[in-house]
Amino acid sequence: VKISKSYKLASRDFHPDDTVIEVKGVKMGGKHLVIMGGPCAVESPEQIDEIARLVKAAGGQVLRGGAFKPRTGPYSFQGIGVEGLVMMAEAGKKHGLLTITEVMTPEYVDVCAEYADILQVGTRNMQNFDLLRKLGTIKTPVLLKRGFSATYDEFLNAAEYILAGGNPNVMLCERGIRTFETYTRNTLDLAAIPVLQQLSHLPVISDPSHGTGRRELVEPMAKASVAAGANGLIIEMHTDPDNSMTGDGVQSLFPDQFAKLLKELEQLGNLV
Ligand code: PEP
Ligand code: MN
Repeated sequence: VKISKSYKLASRDFHPDDTVIEVKGVKMGGKHLVIMGGPCAVESPEQIDEIARLVKAAGGQVLRGGAFKPRTGPYSFQGIGVEGLVMMAEAGKKHGLLTITEVMTPEYVDVCAEYADILQVGTRNMQNFDLLRKLGTIKTPVLLKRGFSATYDEFLNAAEYILAGGNPNVMLCERGIRTFETYTRNTLDLAAIPVLQQLSHLPVISDPSHGTGRRELVEPMAKASVAAGANGLIIEMHTDPDNSMTGDGVQSLFPDQFAKLLKELEQLGNLV
């Protein structure tokens, strides 16, 4: 199918080889399967340290955790802010993991980049063009999440903003889209994985946690994502999901489930 493309730098026509992003020896993109795991939100030094230990022990490479949380309602917990960045950086360093955290405004890009190895743009900010432009001015890798109602073309144009600004280190993240179905929180669009890889050279990461909103669906959809060719997974895991500070405990894996999944993915990796 021929579609008119308004993006250029994000396109595979422009850049035929897969982009591989390397940070401190960890490769993301191409044949490498990167695993990012951790809580929805950084809550305390003890919480993030213990989860980092478990992510590392299970074989993950990147610790996820939000210090700034984009909550749907203004009265919900908004994240602990810069203190959380410091806690996560310490945990990442101690356990030998890269870190990824969400940045919501251009003003906070520099401080987030000072403490984290990868910056996440959330689904609600995919078309926050001032934020995208600011992220184009640095070289820190960016995980750009697909807007929950964004077409592939809109998604790739959002990536184009960052690339056009001069930052080539962009990863695309499918995290589920809004459909008529309400059983799941979002509908994880598995076809997005091969489609984006055909249209673009950028790594494609799948988020089966936000993509389903249900813990029991994370394992099958993580495996399906890998079978569909995902370059990596970002998965929520918590030591005490029932008491997590965001509502995302219901989609967070327990540590033993996370470890089991990674072990099984390793075996699946040999098959696909
Ligand atoms: C998150 O990763 O915790 C998050 C808020 O993700 P999304 O932007 O995909 O909802
Ligand atoms: Mn979350």
